[in-house]
Amino acid sequence: MSRYDVVVIGAGLAGLTTACQLAQAQKKVLLVSTGGGALLLASGCIDVLGFQPATSKQPVTDPLGKLDAFLAEAPDHPYNIVGKANVQTGIETFWEIIHNSTALEYWGAADKNWLLPSAAGAVHPTCLAPTSLANGELTKGGKMLIVGFRELRDFYPALITQNLNEQDLGVEAASSVINAPEPLAKNMNITPLELAKAFERSDFRRKVVQSLQGQSKQFNRIGFPAVLGLKQHAEVLADLERMLGKTVFEISTLPPSVPGRRLFEGLKASFLQAGGRLIIGSKVVEGLIENGRVSQIQMETANRLRPLTAENYVLATGGIYGGGIQTDLDGQVWEPIFGLPVESDSNRHTWFSERFLSNAGQPVSQYGIQVNEKLNPVDSNKTPIAENLFIAGATIAGADWTRGRTGDGLALATAATITKQIA
Ligand SMILES: Cc1cc2nc3c(=O)[nH]c(=O)nc-3n(C[C@H](O)[C@H](O)[C@H](O)COP(=O)(O)OP(=O)(O)OC[C@H]3O[C@@H](n4cnc5c(N)ncnc54)[C@H](O)[C@@H]3O)c2cc1C
Repeated sequence: MSRYDVVVIGAGLAGLTTACQLAQAQKKVLLVSTGGGALLLASGCIDVLGFQPATSKQPVTDPLGKLDAFLAEAPDHPYNIVGKANVQTGIETFWEIIHNSTALEYWGAADKNWLLPSAAGAVHPTCLAPTSLANGELTKGGKMLIVGFRELRDFYPALITQNLNEQDLGVEAASSVINAPEPLAKNMNITPLELAKAFERSDFRRKVVQSLQGQSKQFNRIGFPAVLGLKQHAEVLADLERMLGKTVFEISTLPPSVPGRRLFEGLKASFLQAGGRLIIGSKVVEGLIENGRVSQIQMETANRLRPLTAENYVLATGGIYGGGIQTDLDGQVWEPIFGLPVESDSNRHTWFSERFLSNAGQPVSQYGIQVNEKLNPVDSNKTPIAENLFIAGATIAGADWTRGRTGDGLALATAATITKQIA
């Protein structure tokens, strides 16, 4: 049985960034996860604080500057536990990981939000964005052409442009829908990932540019769904800009997210490069807590449960959406690995707001584990349950990312808080 300094459970943004930092600090780290988490679904940008108050429709332009007001308004939000300094450290550390150990390029700072177009033509305020998405910054103004593909469902340039134009944001948007060239022509069910792979072929790109000839002249910027290559994204972007003679930008699509996949692959490679060991596709099913410490966890393998031991454990299994918190029809809510107490309500009638898209969030999304300032789980008397167990990201009580658009910032801030203690 191998013994590790740290076992991290969960490969979402919280688990991956914690694991990267600990491996880079020379710890022997194992990361075990059933899958890739919300990264593969979300925008690929890093949202720290998008709206304050959380119910406001006015986007925040300075996330760190507005954080104190957000903390005062949402005392139960876990940002209050990690504190502003760790939010800032989280952003800086993410930046260092991306720029020192991946081929990705992100832009932004803690005191400025990008205002980017979303796939619905709304304004997405976000703190750090990859070059291709940041190129869509709305405050730059000018004329933009938004291009879609007839074969790609759920990306409607006319909807995006109409909504952008109606908001008087200073940009003038127009739309165009073209046919996807071979090998995707007439394939009416293509996904963003298939398009991203096709864009890595130069003949595909050339034909896309040919379809836009005559249309793109009067525009300053050309926007595409976020499908401009996966592994060769930087080359794809540069080649399109060269052929079109314009700035090219991407707009996040509905899942699966290609920029999210690029980030997942980048963080994974960075972790492996730092000497970490990664198991994706296995589930941790049980953890044993003895005398105030986790002594062992059990991971499913093809034919048996395999015990794993470490000095420290990080639980980054996500909230309700990640599988870290489970529910059933009887109103039970539980944490499935360690059986940690979950802050929740057993009356299912209180789980949801009346409005599906309530910008105050859904009560059920806030169910999670209560922690202390070290991010150890605590019981109802605030007594730590296991001193070598740390809870990261969306598993923590109150971590509903829709409240102010804070999910990524919290993942990074908890990663920074935990790394300081373990490393
Ligand atoms: C569709 C969607 C859109 C989102 N959009 C935004 C947004 O616009 N802005 C924003 O701020 N946030 C957004 N979020 C939330 C944000 O992405 C997350 O809050 C943030 O990335 C932190 O995630 P996490 O790492 O804590 O958990 P997750 O990303 O959920 O990762 C949990 C990980 O744990 C693994 N896991 C779970 N159970 C086990 C187990 N028993 N054994 C092993 N592994 C396990 C899962 O496979 C997964 O890898 C969105 C989330 C979703 C689902």
